[in-house]
Amino acid sequence: MSLSSPSSVVRPELVRLAAQPVDKNDAIAQAAQMLVAAGCIDPAYVDSFYRREQVSNTFLGHGVAIPHGMVEDRALIRQTGVAVLQVPQGVDWNAGQQARLVVAIAAQSDAHIALLRRLTRLMQDDAAMVDLFATGSAAVIVRALSEDRAMGANGIAAQDLPECFAWTVDYPNGLHARPANAWVEAAKGFSSRIQVRLGREAADAKALVPLLQLGARCGDALVISAQGEDAAAAIARMRTVITRLSSQEKADAAQAERREAARAARPRWQPVSSLPRFSGLTASPGLAVAPVHVIAEQRLMVPDVPQSLVEGGNRLQQALILTQESLHTLADDTARRLGETEAAIFKAHSELLNDPELVTLTCQMMVDGHGVAWAWHQAVEQLANRLAAVGSPVLAARAADIRDVGRRVLARLEPSLPLGSLTALPNEPVILIAEDLSPSDTAGLDQERIAGLATALGGPTSHTAILARTLGLPAMVGGDSGLLSIASGTIGILDGDLGCLYLNPTAADLDSARQWQQQLADQRAAEEQQRSLPATTTDGHRIEIAANINRADQAAMALSQGADGVGLMRTEFLFLERDHAPDEDEQAAAYLAMGQALDGRPLIVRALDIGGDKQVAHLKLPREENPFLGVRGSRLLLRSPDLLEPQVRALYRAARDGAALSIMFPMITSVSEILSLRETCEQIRQELQAPVVPVGIMVEVPAAAMMADVLARHVDFFSIGTNDLTQYTLAIDRQHPDLAAEADSLHPAVLRLIRATVDGAKAHGRWVGVCGGIAGDPFGATVLLGLGVDELSMTPRDIPAVKARLRTVSLAQAQQVAAQALACETADAVRTLEGVA
Ligand code: PEP
Ligand code: MG
Repeated sequence: MSLSSPSSVVRPELVRLAAQPVDKNDAIAQAAQMLVAAGCIDPAYVDSFYRREQVSNTFLGHGVAIPHGMVEDRALIRQTGVAVLQVPQGVDWNAGQQARLVVAIAAQSDAHIALLRRLTRLMQDDAAMVDLFATGSAAVIVRALSEDRAMGANGIAAQDLPECFAWTVDYPNGLHARPANAWVEAAKGFSSRIQVRLGREAADAKALVPLLQLGARCGDALVISAQGEDAAAAIARMRTVITRLSSQEKADAAQAERREAARAARPRWQPVSSLPRFSGLTASPGLAVAPVHVIAEQRLMVPDVPQSLVEGGNRLQQALILTQESLHTLADDTARRLGETEAAIFKAHSELLNDPELVTLTCQMMVDGHGVAWAWHQAVEQLANRLAAVGSPVLAARAADIRDVGRRVLARLEPSLPLGSLTALPNEPVILIAEDLSPSDTAGLDQERIAGLATALGGPTSHTAILARTLGLPAMVGGDSGLLSIASGTIGILDGDLGCLYLNPTAADLDSARQWQQQLADQRAAEEQQRSLPATTTDGHRIEIAANINRADQAAMALSQGADGVGLMRTEFLFLERDHAPDEDEQAAAYLAMGQALDGRPLIVRALDIGGDKQVAHLKLPREENPFLGVRGSRLLLRSPDLLEPQVRALYRAARDGAALSIMFPMITSVSEILSLRETCEQIRQELQAPVVPVGIMVEVPAAAMMADVLARHVDFFSIGTNDLTQYTLAIDRQHPDLAAEADSLHPAVLRLIRATVDGAKAHGRWVGVCGGIAGDPFGATVLLGLGVDELSMTPRDIPAVKARLRTVSLAQAQQVAAQALACETADAVRTLEGVA
């Protein structure tokens, strides 16, 4: 009989209530004896339970232990069975871990997974667990653990709430973390209880982990239901969010399929000789030839330093707040550097931290007398192990996410721990081999030192794989664990298209692989050549195309995508992701490095835009009720000479040393701000005897757009920040989970303000750029061209498509589309013009 069969193997005669084992070994002996007596196991198998305890921790958490034997002894199992020992007083399992329910498992196949799944669900409900620890009825335990009475997360058979709708999952990859996170965010906006049911199991729609544990796949029928004051509105909202995501999910999957088909159709490199190889799954295409560098799995020893509960609680809270802030920043930076899809990974991570279970588990252990860092680490491991134990690749990937985010918090709780595993890399490029890489590791990889990635764990849709593709690094995932025993320094050839790693290539193999790389490089160069052509319309009008990048090491990539220069270097990144403000020297070096990397091409450096969505914890600025309308950008600079002056000095020093830079101030609303800022600039410039550089402003506030003809007298150029201009024009918070999708920069109201800005600038012979997201949309770029914009600055990877589109239209056509757009009533109407542009 299998655990997954409807008739459960948890039988009343295998439940012993109110047991009082003297210790853990006695508890195991009693449970194992019941299995022997029931004919489930050979008496020799009892020893296997003890051997298991030597090599793994069978304490599951929340008072539950699951002793089981070794895989190699399975032949001694006669029949799958489970014995339950209820120990109301508890028995010490490991240091700090008390078991109240000992569930001894003898499973012939992987049948124990179903039981584990039910247990993990049950354990999310403390009240249900407390009942099981104390109940006087074996039937209650049998019912709770048996599949026949499958449960919702609350421990009772799931029933729909009064307001509900049914929906069949049509996300090709099922309900994975990114869409699930959007569901959670939407659900949290309501006070009602909201539940998602799949079959007989239900999960709270406001908690990410239980929602993911449903494991909903494409084609599964779900019922989303709600109960409470705002239940009707909640259901309407959930329906909109859930169904709206379908097209995005399908588009993502279709794009992945197209990429896969293109990949499959491409000719492949073949080794000349028969080489030893490790196979895995293809994660990111390309061929890498380099020595391998193996990152040994680090067993983290977190010291257990008890402290008072109050102190532990405070430290935990502080660490969680700081981590949330840095994840927010990382998401922001990743969105700008790589894209929204990649940034969503870190938003989902931040949601994982909101899961009450992690904090609850940690607190329970602190109550038991453990130190906060140790308790947190244990809680993360327990939760991650539990997810991994379900046996689903999707949940295994979530386990990696939980560990990743857990590590971030741990670094705050115990800064002395060696958590940065990727810091000690050789200087030469290597093929990095690791058991797994966290998304943070991958996002922060130094591309100069990494030729490719090969991991033992992970799947093609894991976050590591997604990021590797974005970074253009050949990668394979899910390789054999033998990968980790390869000696560092062995020469390898990683074929990301096939998902395999060849070792010890012969000279002929190396030759052929390098030739292949050369061919790929030539092909890429031909494509680059195409991208490097200027964005000139069919009637000969040229528009400058620039990149939004923040670091000098991104310049080469931006230029290879076809950038004519950098139109927006956001300097906040120098202040974010670190715990102190960079000094003047450090800033000057960063600006000069960017100038040098651009080799004389134009560079627009934006002065600090802190506030609003970009908070820097270590500056300890006062909390504002409404930060988007508060002391943000230039308003902050004008109030903080300690921020403004070192930055302006650093900029002029870089200019004096040869950087062809312009200075741009963010969030300008009035002439007086410009005059003050210019005065500071001029004073510092004279002190440093630096050259005059253009000083411009961002037009991000409707007041600036409307007054452009006045402001233009005092500046050298404008760059329109359509992200903020849209937010302030439409009164939609750019990060609002429900409304952000409606904040379309092609709204006619925004376009009219852009036109007003262009008119104001032209009256004084100034040029106008756009550096908000719409500049990177090929149709948006056409409209902007038609509105008279001179420069477009965007995420580098948007450049090729924008250039290609602009080279197909004439200025006259673009002007016609722009005129029509200005006359449209809605953003949707503007978008329908795409067919004619
Ligand atoms: C904008 O507001 O459009 C802009 C480019 O600036 P940021 O996104 O950094 O606020
Ligand atoms: Mg802005």
